[in-house]
Amino acid sequence: MPSYQTNAIVIGRTNFGEADRIIRVITPDHGKLSAIAKGVRRIKSRSGGHLELLSDVALTLTKGRNLDVVTSARLAWYPHSLAGNYERLGLAFMTAGMVDRLVEENQPQTDIYNLTAEMLHLLEAGRGGKLPELWFKLRLLQLLGYRPELGACLACGQSSATASYSFSPERGGIVCETCREAVATSMPHSVIKLWRILSDHPFASVTGIRGAEELATSSLSACDGFYQYHLGRTFSADPIGVQP
Ligand SMILES: [Zn+2]
Repeated sequence: MPSYQTNAIVIGRTNFGEADRIIRVITPDHGKLSAIAKGVRRIKSRSGGHLELLSDVALTLTKGRNLDVVTSARLAWYPHSLAGNYERLGLAFMTAGMVDRLVEENQPQTDIYNLTAEMLHLLEAGRGGKLPELWFKLRLLQLLGYRPELGACLACGQSSATASYSFSPERGGIVCETCREAVATSMPHSVIKLWRILSDHPFASVTGIRGAEELATSSLSACDGFYQYHLGRTFSADPIGVQP
């Protein structure tokens, strides 16, 4: 049976049979994939401890008929500091859960692996709050091909530095005052500008923007509204109810 090696972040796990576990991982070269880890729930298993949710592992996999089989797992990195912080732990579970539910399997997704790793490293370094949450959500939309329109009114095409804009989840971006529907919520230029930067750049490029945390807090619900409308559900950082 052919085997291959890959780095992988564990984003989901399901118990299978008496001692096995199906893990779902995001990798740089093979995208998201599911694999079966045999015997990992036995106490003496050598690789079981290396397949915790959120861990970054070096995996060796063997091609299987249905699922590939984990033949070895070596822990490369784990966000140990999150155990003591529910807010950041909740954001980490949200990150894994979003990639697990929204990313298709078996398509090369190097950017999504990098985004997931960057978010988990930020959280491990002590960076929590609404700004990293909004950044991750907007970056993921961009990488999934759902980037909101933030350049010009979606109805008439007007782009003006002085006009007022609203955000319409239904249309998928900003609309000008003339074209806005009742449901659209107003979106100041400062927020539109922040969202553009967050959608296209690494987190490091927003840390110097004044008031970014407040702008993120005030506009996160508009982003959640976009997810609800276009992806059918929202995701929050609440750790309660998350299956570790
Ligand atoms: Zn318009």
